[in-house]
Amino acid sequence: MSAQPVVQVEDLDVYYGTSQILFGVGLSVRQGETMALLGRNGAGKSTTMKAIMGLAPARRGKVTLRGRQVSGMKPHHIARAGLGFVPEDRQIFPEHTVEDNLVIGQKKGPDGEDEWSIRRVYDVFPLLEPLRNRIAGRLSGGEQQMLAIARTLMGNPALLLLDEPSEGLAPIIVQRIGELLRQLRGTGATVLIAEQNMHFCLGLASHATVIDKGQIVYTSSIEEL
Ligand code: ATP
Ligand code: MG
Repeated sequence: MSAQPVVQVEDLDVYYGTSQILFGVGLSVRQGETMALLGRNGAGKSTTMKAIMGLAPARRGKVTLRGRQVSGMKPHHIARAGLGFVPEDRQIFPEHTVEDNLVIGQKKGPDGEDEWSIRRVYDVFPLLEPLRNRIAGRLSGGEQQMLAIARTLMGNPALLLLDEPSEGLAPIIVQRIGELLRQLRGTGATVLIAEQNMHFCLGLASHATVIDKGQIVYTSSIEEL
């Protein structure tokens, strides 16, 4: 295990206008860890995820990805750092088909057996396969969410950030995504999941951080929760 964390957030304050949203937030995720960032509605989970992506303004503190400070990085450098992000507002290409969404803009990854392929995506998300020629913007919310997660996996991210992956999905799909993330943990992937649903993270996350009213109130291995 490398000593340097993959993600390090230190003493971070974020404001939207004059409202302070994050108060001295700190967390770190090391190589191979699956960290759950737990908290209620409005606790600051999504803001923390956005700050890690360089998308929320930090007034104090810093975020580093493998030791490099995010605030000095251009968006394409962040993407090149092997970071895959599934935000709350699912990002898909609404005018394109499901299958185009899986392949558009993907860089060719290393030719390893862990590399994601369309076949592997359909094995994990069988509900997507019969939709392959449908226009993505006309899928249901849950179908779009599956597609957004699948699309991000197709980029073979070394670090995967998921904002509420279980939200609005049928229990069977939630279970499937949980299994997928458990498998990823076995491959040494580094994952950060923002979730309200603690049950989803049990048996899946190796560590948990709890945020409440913009402050980290608890950090532990999930067994201690
Ligand atoms: P949820 O579980 O509902 O997604 P969350 O933990 O992700 O909640 P955030 O989205 O980080 O919460 O929001 C934290 C606080 O910041 C909330 O009070 C929210 O209203 C506020 N907030 C978020 N985005 C903005 C914005 N762009 N402008 C002003 N306030 C914002
Ligand atoms: Mg949120």
